[in-house]
Amino acid sequence: MPRITVKVGTSTLAHPTGRINIRHIENLVKVLSDLKNAGNQIILVSSGAIGMGTGSLGLPGRPADMPTKQAAAAVGQCELMYIYDKLFSEYSHTVAQILLTADDLEHPDRRKNFENTLFRLLELNVLPILNENDTMATAEIAFGDNDSLAASVACCLHSDLLVMLTDTEGLYTDDPSVSPDAELIPCVTEITDDLYRLAKGSGSTVGTGGMLTKLNAAKACMACGIDTIICGGSRPELLYDIIEGKACGTKFIGKKV
Ligand code: GLU
Repeated sequence: MPRITVKVGTSTLAHPTGRINIRHIENLVKVLSDLKNAGNQIILVSSGAIGMGTGSLGLPGRPADMPTKQAAAAVGQCELMYIYDKLFSEYSHTVAQILLTADDLEHPDRRKNFENTLFRLLELNVLPILNENDTMATAEIAFGDNDSLAASVACCLHSDLLVMLTDTEGLYTDDPSVSPDAELIPCVTEITDDLYRLAKGSGSTVGTGGMLTKLNAAKACMACGIDTIICGGSRPELLYDIIEGKACGTKFIGKKV
């Protein structure tokens, strides 16, 4: 059974107001449900808790201070899981929530507990949905962004593929919002300093990560032999093409041993 880790960012799941993007989340759940029906194992790493909490609490914008961010995440995570649970159950799929910090995977006993739980959930045909445990995630023990979390999870669980759904169609030769000559880079076999230079500065106004954190995530997966794809989150149907091996977004080829 192909095992696919899918990471979706706040910029895809929420409007800039922090309120949920119903069209995007409904499409995503529909496609993931269908891929599960077709026999794929899906692990979803979902951001969006702070964004949605910001909306629910009526805060003027994404909070800058840690306690308010953590409070917003605690509120938003409920809304996020409520919506996932509701939408996936419409397609008869059961979801589970797992909240992690980086040190959970560094500590051997906790990592083992995590693996045992995740593998058992997959055997039970459950779709695990992961996010950083933002309440506990102080700087020293945090992944800090869900791109890193998704890469660690994909490696730990021996995924065949990591797909990062985001607000651009992939990695470009220049910033596509300002440069009409910017071209999509379809395939990357090695992450060079030049690529890091391209990625610098691109970031999201609503989420935590940007292209830089995605490159780091792709690099970690490549070292574990896992292919990684960055593509547009507003069209989750791209996942069908990806699984059929069609070119899509930017593909980073994992090292084959
Ligand atoms: N854990 C954060 C949230 O759910 C997201 C971190 C990120 O955007 O990478 O809002």
